[in-house]
Amino acid sequence: MTKQIMVGGVPVGGGAPVTIQSMTNTRTDDVTATLEQIRRLAAAGCEIIRVAVPDQAAARAVGKIKEESPIPVVVDIHFDYKLALEAIAAGADKVRINPGNIGSEDRVKAVADACRQRNIPIRIGVNGGSLEKEILAKYGRVCPEAMVESAFGHIRLLNKFDFDDICISLKSSSVPITMKAYQLMSQESNYPLHIGVTEAGTVRMGTLKSAVGIGGLLAMGVGDTMRVSLSADPVEEVYAARDILRAAGIRREGAELVSCPTCGRTRIDLIALAGQVEERLKTVDKPITVAVMGCVVNGPGEASAADCGIAGGVGEGLLFKRGQIIKKVPQDQLVDELFALIETL
Ligand code: SF4
Repeated sequence: MTKQIMVGGVPVGGGAPVTIQSMTNTRTDDVTATLEQIRRLAAAGCEIIRVAVPDQAAARAVGKIKEESPIPVVVDIHFDYKLALEAIAAGADKVRINPGNIGSEDRVKAVADACRQRNIPIRIGVNGGSLEKEILAKYGRVCPEAMVESAFGHIRLLNKFDFDDICISLKSSSVPITMKAYQLMSQESNYPLHIGVTEAGTVRMGTLKSAVGIGGLLAMGVGDTMRVSLSADPVEEVYAARDILRAAGIRREGAELVSCPTCGRTRIDLIALAGQVEERLKTVDKPITVAVMGCVVNGPGEASAADCGIAGGVGEGLLFKRGQIIKKVPQDQLVDELFALIETL
């Protein structure tokens, strides 16, 4: 089992539930917009949020963001240790920084000391696209072994200053490399692992790559916290993360949609119907399974494992609960009747 770190009040590792993270894409120094986005993300199920800190204005904004954020705030720093110190002083709950990239050892020590004093962890975020030159020269290419070696280099630097409140990520845009790197790391250390596939792409392909990479790792018992990276509204990342956790059997929170693939018996626009139900289910946090089926003959029976559902027929459909038909409903009222039933569950 990995060791546990605390990100604000949220435990990561050591058997704690796998948490969902995302990252804001507003300007961090625009506190109002950033907080508005954090609230939307938290409402969707995000449990830890990261904000980019590219300059002093962003570092100064961290204090105000922290005051009102409903979830712990991680600051993302590249290279500039002064920004790290400022954001730590402003109350960041965790710092993502690679100690090997911030210059002289006294700078690393300053960041490690500041984090220790405030009792906050550091995430070392190895990225396959920005490995150290020496490591790339040694391995000749980006590979899992090179990424793990890079992580241990950063870990050693922090350990040198007696700092070990660390979590690790080893992201690459290649799913097989990412998966192998995390597997190796989990064999060679017990640091909690922040898992994800980086630059995964747009919603469809990015979700698929993340589902395979993150979901595959979770199925093997690897991973303590996760971020799905998508070129999209970050709320989509949270929805995708929730679905991956559910598909991997890790969480049962929130409603799950099952819908039939349609066939020659389908006489309704099932695809649109399933889309409507899926959209409305995003705000339902009961751990239920809801079925949307394409015909009244086979639908209720095929979906008997679902808690409730609808099956579409010609002009009217059926509302059912655990395989038992409750009533016939005109087609245009099917979705509303379904959600009225969900209310009662
Ligand atoms: S539920 Fe009905 S429409 Fe859907 S796949 Fe099964 S038989 Fe076909």
